[in-house]
Parts: sequence; C-alpha cells; structure tokens
Amino acid sequence: MDQTLYVEVVTPDGQIVDGEFEMVVVHAEQGELGILPNHTAMIAPLIISTARLKRNNESMRVAIGGGFVEVIDNHVTILAQSAETPAKIDVERARKAKERALRRIKQKKDHVDFKRAEMALKRAINRLDISGNQ
Ligand code: ATP
Repeated sequence: MDQTLYVEVVTPDGQIVDGEFEMVVVHAEQGELGILPNHTAMIAPLIISTARLKRNNESMRVAIGGGFVEVIDNHVTILAQSAETPAKIDVERARKAKERALRRIKQKKDHVDFKRAEMALKRAINRLDISGNQ
C-alpha cells in the first residue's frame, strides 16, 4: 500500500481495531465522512452507526455506539463508547436489547426515559444490521 491510514478503534474496554487501511468511512453528526490519506486534521462527533475500514477491496465493518473521530497526520482514532466487529456481536443479546427498548418506548409511562430507550434501540438495530440479522 502506497499511502495508508493508521487506524485505531478504542473503547472503554480497550482497543478493538489497530491497523493500516486505505480509507475510513464514518458517520458524524453532520453526515457521512470519507477519510483518505492526507486528510486535513479534524475531530468530529460520531453517531450510533457503522464505520467501514477499507483495504485491498475489502471492507471491515465496526458497529460504533457513538463517540469521536480524530484525524492527525494519517492517524485516524475512533474513540467510541462501544465498538464491535461483526464476529464479536452477540445476536441474541442484541435482539433482547431491541425488544426491551421497543417495549419501553411503547409503554408510554412517565418514568420511562424515552431518549435512553431510543438510543438503546439504535445500538441494538445497528448491531443486528452489521451482523446480518434484524
Ligand atoms: P445491553 O442492554 O445488551 O447491555 P447496550 O446497548 O446497553 O446493550 P452498551 O452499553 O452499548 O450495551 O455496551 C456495553 C458493553 O457491552 C460494551 O462493551 C459493548 O461492546 C458490549 N455489548 C453490548 N451489546 C452487545 C452485543 N449484542 N454483542 C456484543 N457485545 C455487546
């Protein structure tokens, strides 16, 4: 690879990804961001979404539970609240989390924190999506 990006995905549980890639696509609050070598330095907040790390015509997908992306000197750091590659996703757990969040949203009770349930639903759908399930 001529020009590469050194990419790290880091969570409170530790480093999930560490390696060289040709391109990184992430979803920032302002929209999709494609990062190629020699990108200008930047930092942007990420939404619950899938990050795609590309090299040799292959794309590695990582479920991101929100966080930040920082680019400096061809070094891309994704600091995520949670991050999983498809192989690490427990599909049954994500299904249960989705059902629980949907139940909470439908309950329409005062004590339910809807924003929190909505975010849990998005995380679960994102995990199911990248693991090829729904
Ligand atoms: P749950 O209600 O099942 O805990 P959650 O969306 O609230 O889901 P998070 O707070 O985003 O969970 O994540 C807590 C930790 O559990 C993180 O380390 C995350 O990577 C991991 N995690 C959550 N759901 C899954 C899953 N379905 N498969 C694998 N790891 C998961």
